[in-house]
Amino acid sequence: MTPLAIRQLSPETINRIAAGEVVERPASVVKELVENAIDAGARGIEVVSAGGGLQLIRVSDDGSGISAEDLPLAIERHATSKLSEDDLFDIRNLGFRGEALPSIGSIARLDIRSRTRAAASGSAIGVAFGAVSPVRPAAVNPGTVIEVRELFAATPARLKFMKSERAENMALSETVKRLAMAHPGIGFVLQTGERKGLQLPREADTDDGRLARLGAIMGRDFLNDALPIRMEAAGASGRLVVSGFVGLPTLHRADAREQYLFVNGRPVRDRLLIGAVKAAYGDLIPRGRSPMLAVFVDVDPRDVDVNVHPAKAEVRFRDVGNVRHAIISAIGAALAAAGHRASARGGVLTAEAFEADAFHGREPAPFERAPSDLGGGNPYGVGSAVPFNSDHGPGLSRAYAEAMQAPLAGLNEPSGHFAIDNAATPDERQLRPLGAVRAQIHENYIIAQTADGLVIVDQHAAHERLVYERLKASLAAGKVATQGLLIPAIVNLDPDDADLLVENASALAALGLVLEGFGPGAVAVRETPALLGDVDVEGLVRDLVSELAGEGTARVLADRLEAVASRMACHGSVRSGRRLTTQEMDALLRDMEATPYSGQCNHGRPTYVALKLADIERLFGRR
Ligand code: ADP
Ligand code: MG
Repeated sequence: MTPLAIRQLSPETINRIAAGEVVERPASVVKELVENAIDAGARGIEVVSAGGGLQLIRVSDDGSGISAEDLPLAIERHATSKLSEDDLFDIRNLGFRGEALPSIGSIARLDIRSRTRAAASGSAIGVAFGAVSPVRPAAVNPGTVIEVRELFAATPARLKFMKSERAENMALSETVKRLAMAHPGIGFVLQTGERKGLQLPREADTDDGRLARLGAIMGRDFLNDALPIRMEAAGASGRLVVSGFVGLPTLHRADAREQYLFVNGRPVRDRLLIGAVKAAYGDLIPRGRSPMLAVFVDVDPRDVDVNVHPAKAEVRFRDVGNVRHAIISAIGAALAAAGHRASARGGVLTAEAFEADAFHGREPAPFERAPSDLGGGNPYGVGSAVPFNSDHGPGLSRAYAEAMQAPLAGLNEPSGHFAIDNAATPDERQLRPLGAVRAQIHENYIIAQTADGLVIVDQHAAHERLVYERLKASLAAGKVATQGLLIPAIVNLDPDDADLLVENASALAALGLVLEGFGPGAVAVRETPALLGDVDVEGLVRDLVSELAGEGTARVLADRLEAVASRMACHGSVRSGRRLTTQEMDALLRDMEATPYSGQCNHGRPTYVALKLADIERLFGRR
């Protein structure tokens, strides 16, 4: 084969190659066009698509517009109004390469109609698969309307990779949503031909405005459970600001799709940022689950390189450690300040469960039924009330009898685990966030009356979290109080398991569990963490073996200690099924209020749910 001579590629070929990088699918076109509209200072942007964006994409804006003289330049490669050649690193707009419009024009029919505010009339220009048609006059409002038709029609290889129309519509709408989250001051309308489309009114340029925009996109759950974050630090060349909203740890999802990250107003998917978020939530989120959040990082343009990829989903920071640290502390501070707050979702679900039971699909109403219909179990499902009738089946009568028990009667001696708060009167307690104790039911749920409703606390889950947080705190302070056993407890184990424990003896000692080998296949436990109280030593040791074996040595020690602490906490917790005295219950609630992260148990479930009086009234049709 004769070698090919080196020659300059034609502009059309260059544009098509660039298009391959910039335009992967219809959503990429939407991204470029909407970014241009944002850069043009638009206050409203409308996106319309047909056929998943392959037939038509139209983006209209009310921004600066393009003059008739500039129109030919706009579709010329490397022509941009956004980059100063004096400082290539000072990038303040979303666009800067000047390659989107020529690229799109090389693989579709592109039509641009535009008018500047100063111009009396508008003009238009077209490019069809690389062939430019001359500028012509056009009737158009101030702003720009860009239409892209027959995308990829001349590049069948690309067409083959298109997913279903629905999938393309979803990607396209995801793109608009991400950009809309970063720009609450701009109104957005999206019409893909499917269902209702998206309508996002302009919001104020405040935290509230931003939250309203995020809520409109991420949903009501997020709106209810979002905590504001803000952290400012010095970056390498200018200020570094981390802001936005993060969900309570009890609000989690199966994947990271609802984690929205932005750098200087640009939606990004960046491993560094995702890792920082993960570290910030740490053990508050169950493994394999992801929190919901929208985090905005703003840095001096010179401290970040957005030039890594033409589609600009990745960024490179000049000072990675600094950014990571700022994200972790911003989120960490918000989560710690949220303290005992658990997801509002629990309360909403509770209300829904009540409603579903009370009003739907139950004919006739429960209290009209003959008692014999009721049978043994609780026929009303979770959370429903027992009817006011004493003549019912055996299962119910026990539950009923219990419900009727004097709820505040002393049942047990205080266990001594709790710090008892004698100062407040019941009235004062009611004003505290978790309210005043009214009853314990089914020996696991504490009912408390709050200023504006009631809360139901899962005593086991709550106490487990308290013990865990205390273990971690004393671990961090380097002093876990132990209690010595009068006679060492000998636990017989599989020899490998015994070895594993002995190998980790010093780490376990740091957590307050002092043990040593006792011949092959046994360990002698001499001291246990005082926090755990009287603990079933053998059960604890066996459980720790499975924690240690399960994780191997892959995890760093600190992480592993926390996992072990979490296991220990489970053993030291008030089990469900134990009756508590009023003082114990009250102390538990007060402890929860005072302990950070007590809104969810170590497994990520909420430790309590709250029901507002307004919701209760709604259930009874009073509202
Ligand atoms: P870039 O955005 O990287 O500058 P583009 O190819 O996307 O490159 O756009 C080229 C130029 O066309 C922009 O720099 C801008 O001056 C102009 N332009 C594009 N879209 C619009 C718009 N919607 N409103 C006003 N000007 C626009
Ligand atoms: Mg652009």
